[in-house]
Amino acid sequence: MTTLVYGLGESGLAAARALTERGVEVVAADANDSENLRHSVLSLGVETRFGVGSELLEEGFDRIIASPGIRPGDAVLSAAEVRGIPILSEVALGLELLRREAPDLKVAAVTGTNGKTTVVDMIGHCLTASGIPHTVAGNSWRALTGCLEEIREAGALVLEISSFQLHYLESPGFDVAALLNVRPDHLNWHASFEEYVADKLRVFDGQDAHALALVSAGDEVGRSVAEGLVPETIVVGEGETRLEGESLLLRGHPLAETSELPFGGRHNRENVLFAALTAGRLGAGMTGIRAGVLGYGLKPHRMEVVGEYEGVTWVDDSKATNPAAVAAALSGMEGPVVLILGGSEKETNFSEVVPHLARCRAILCQGEAGPRLAGFLREAGAEVRVLPDLGSAVEEARAVARPGDVVLLSPGCASFDQFSGYAERGEVFARLSAVRAGVRR
Ligand code: ADP
Repeated sequence: MTTLVYGLGESGLAAARALTERGVEVVAADANDSENLRHSVLSLGVETRFGVGSELLEEGFDRIIASPGIRPGDAVLSAAEVRGIPILSEVALGLELLRREAPDLKVAAVTGTNGKTTVVDMIGHCLTASGIPHTVAGNSWRALTGCLEEIREAGALVLEISSFQLHYLESPGFDVAALLNVRPDHLNWHASFEEYVADKLRVFDGQDAHALALVSAGDEVGRSVAEGLVPETIVVGEGETRLEGESLLLRGHPLAETSELPFGGRHNRENVLFAALTAGRLGAGMTGIRAGVLGYGLKPHRMEVVGEYEGVTWVDDSKATNPAAVAAALSGMEGPVVLILGGSEKETNFSEVVPHLARCRAILCQGEAGPRLAGFLREAGAEVRVLPDLGSAVEEARAVARPGDVVLLSPGCASFDQFSGYAERGEVFARLSAVRAGVRR
C-alpha cells in the first residue's frame, strides 16, 4: 500500500523523505503545479502528481500525510474523510516514527495562539545553559520529520505545535504539554472557534500519570480544562509559579526580578514561567534556567525597537497577527503610541484591542483589512485614519508622532496582502522608518 504525502512545502518534502528512507512507498502530490514545485521534489525520487483533485484518491492510499497549510475543507481531504482514509499531520507522522525508533525520548510540546515561538526559544536557551542535549522543531522551526536522527541522538525534543498540526494528531501523550492561551485566530482555516479550541486542547490527549500539564491563569480556555488534566497540572500565574510583586516565583522559589529581564512586556513574564517549568521538567536546574532567561533576547519582529529618530521610537511587532497580540503589545506601553494596524483580512474580532486604545495618539488602519477595522473601531468610539498601505501609514505616522512617542507596528493581521510574510513586512517597516527619517534631515 502507498502513503500519499499531500502538500509539498518544507514539511511535506521532509515527510516524503523520511518515509522513503524507511522503505515506504510514497506518492507526493500538490493541488498546485509550478516549475518550482516540480523542481523541489526532484531529489526525492518518488512518484509525483500535481494540480490534483479528489480523483487522486481513486489510486488507493492507505493513509495521507497532510501539510498544515491545507484546510480540512480541501477537496482531497474531505473526500478522504468520506472514504475513511486516515489523515495525519506531518508532526503526527514524526511522533509515530520517534515513538518506534526512540521510545525513551522526552517530548515537551508548546501550543497557544500567541507566544509559542518565544516560549520554545526560551526553553531551548535554558536547556543549552544547563548543558542538556535537546532538539527544537515544529511549526516555525525545522519540520519534525526533517531532523529525526538528531532528535534520537539528543534524547529530548522541544516541539512547537500549531492548531493545524494538532488537528490531524491523535493522542500524542506528551511528557510536558503547555497551552499558553487560546484567542480568536485562524478562523479562515478552522470551521469555528469551537473547533480551534478543540484542536488546541488535543495537546493534552494521551498524557500519562507522570506527565506535566501547563495552562495560564489568565486564559479562560486553559483554566476551564485544568481540573480534568493530569495530576500534575500547573496553572501558571497562581499558586507557587507566578509573579509576586516584581519577583518571578518558580515552584515557590525566587527565579528573577522583572528588572533583571532583558526584555519587556507582561506577557513575556508569563512566557518565562512556562519556559522555566518546562525546562525544569526536562532536567534543567535553577542556575541553568536563570542563565537561560537572563541571557535571552526576543526574536526579531516581536516588540523589536528598530529605530529612534527625533525622539520617536519605532517598534516592529509585525509578528502580532491577531488582536490578542496587539492587546498584549499595547498593555506593555507607557507613553503615547501611534499604532499601525491592518494587513490581510482574517475577519477576526478586534474587541479585545478596544480597552487599550486610550493610550494611542493616533490609530492608522492600512491594507486590505484597513477599512473594516476602521469601521469597527469607529463604532467603538475610537478616532481612526485609513491608509491604503504600510508605506503611506509610515508616512502618516511620522507626521503625527511627537518626541517621546512610540510608533508601533502591531498589525493584528497577516501580511499577505502586501508582503511574503511577517518578516518582510517588519523589514520594510524598519527600512521605511529610517529612510523617511533620513529624507527629512
Ligand atoms: P507564536 O509563535 O505563537 O506566533 P510568538 O512568540 O512568535 O508567538 O509571538 C507572536 C506575537 O505574540 C508577538 O507579537 C508577541 O509579542 C506576542 N506574544 C508573545 N507571547 C505572548 C503571550 N503570552 N500573550 C500574548 N501575546 C504574546
